[in-house]
Amino acid sequence: MTEWVSLIRDVPDYPKPGVVFKDITPLLADHSAFTQVVDELGAGLAFDKVVGIEARGFILAAPVAYRAGAGFVPVRKKGKLPAQTFEANYDLEYGSATVEVHSDAFAPGERVLIVDDVLATGGTANATVELVRRAGAHVIGVSVLMELSFLSGRDRLPGLEVRSLVTV
Ligand code: 5GP
Repeated sequence: MTEWVSLIRDVPDYPKPGVVFKDITPLLADHSAFTQVVDELGAGLAFDKVVGIEARGFILAAPVAYRAGAGFVPVRKKGKLPAQTFEANYDLEYGSATVEVHSDAFAPGERVLIVDDVLATGGTANATVELVRRAGAHVIGVSVLMELSFLSGRDRLPGLEVRSLVTV
């Protein structure tokens, strides 16, 4: 395991009792760790655009895109994007959520890498894959900093290359 892993801290009982939240802000504040993970998220992959999932996904996806000479596309929670969108729903533990992407965000067949900080149940990433496909692009993979393997999120992304830099 690489050194930067120690910069992700556990915050107990956030956002609610019983949940241990993985807080990546100490890692982001460390220049060496931040650049290392950005490099690893996109290394060896060929893509035209990087999709970042609101909000922590933006922080990682934008520099991955910049470094690779690719474009950046935000996937946002419902109601935040100004132009015409596609939307996808996914289930949360209690209730559901909706994410959106601009319907003209991609040229047909563009190769897209999806980036987020944490893969938990996979609901958010799965909905994002659906959005990118509906918008006419091709998902080449999903890259995340951390995978919480006990929640089996990877199982909701069949047939996709799922890269996690660290698995707990
Ligand atoms: P999922 O949809 O896979 O259950 O949850 C993943 C989404 O929730 C990601 O967008 C991620 O940012 C957020 N998330 C869930 N648990 C954590 C966590 O422990 N730490 C962080 N940083 N994000 C989390």
